[in-house]
Amino acid sequence: MFQKDEYNVLILGLDNAGKTTYLEQTKMKFTKNYQGMSLNKITTTVGLNIGTITIGGVKLKFWDLGGQEELQSLWDKYYAESHAVIYVVDSSDKERIDESKDAFDKMIVNDSLKDVPLLLLANKQDLPEVVTVGTIKSVFYGSSDLIGQRDCRVNGVSALKGDGINDGIEWIVDCVK
Ligand code: GDP
Repeated sequence: MFQKDEYNVLILGLDNAGKTTYLEQTKMKFTKNYQGMSLNKITTTVGLNIGTITIGGVKLKFWDLGGQEELQSLWDKYYAESHAVIYVVDSSDKERIDESKDAFDKMIVNDSLKDVPLLLLANKQDLPEVVTVGTIKSVFYGSSDLIGQRDCRVNGVSALKGDGINDGIEWIVDCVK
């Protein structure tokens, strides 16, 4: 039988950033006849959610890890086995941008991730008066010496409405395969 390549993709970010909504939306978009959970019933992740999609023979296995402070210490257990990281930021929550950036910085300095592609999602762009994608890019990627040589990209998305999802997923497939 034809062997598919399988790659692990971590979905990280603070609690309430929209990680689980993003994973459900991604599964809906890339899985035929997928009957997912109702998006407005999703509550914040405690523990982890796993989901898999296959695009052109490439299998992506997503690990949506809990973002609460006490769960962030578990993130690094997954780094060594990961092939890409998606970091989700709630663009509507200006008060927690610094907190999100601190968690991001702790993550990107980890040596196991230094060559792992990084997709930054400025989520909830459907809401009014959000922080712009450009500002999020400069806040998170501005101190670029921490980013190093890894491939990185920023996308403005709405996980809830499903806007801007495909581009990032296709980018990850190109990076990992
Ligand atoms: P998680 O804790 O990071 O997994 O976040 P969830 O996926 O549970 O989402 C947290 C809350 O934000 C939920 O009420 C979602 O409906 C909401 N949410 C997630 N993504 C979006 C988005 O793109 N736009 C809006 N307006 N709300 C969103």
